[in-house]
Amino acid sequence: MMQSNIFVKVGPLLKEKQFNIDVDSFINHMAYYTSGKFVYPSAIHRELKLSIQDVYSIMELCAEQGLLEQYLQIYCPRCQRFVGSDNIYKTALEIPEIVNCVHCDEEINNPLQHAVVIYKVL
Ligand SMILES: [Zn+2]
Repeated sequence: MMQSNIFVKVGPLLKEKQFNIDVDSFINHMAYYTSGKFVYPSAIHRELKLSIQDVYSIMELCAEQGLLEQYLQIYCPRCQRFVGSDNIYKTALEIPEIVNCVHCDEEINNPLQHAVVIYKVL
């Protein structure tokens, strides 16, 4: 059985807010993001050709509606990739002083500066 698309719930709200998006195709696209998956705003921005500001506004709205939860992940300044799925943090306080990139072994000394907001589907 297919898991129901929880993003349908925010459809009316998204339409009401009048974002410059096609709400239905956004919702269809988000069907892929089932519970427990992480949503990368940069990926949504690329895949749906929405402005990054719009993507973050929409993600925040989904978070307010209890569909998503905000997390932080470290983006490696050297190899330009996320440093690994073990390095996902709930708050800035959880980020250690040094984070090592699993891809290129870069030692990131100021990881908070390289933290990117991502969202987990609840
Ligand atoms: Zn790296």
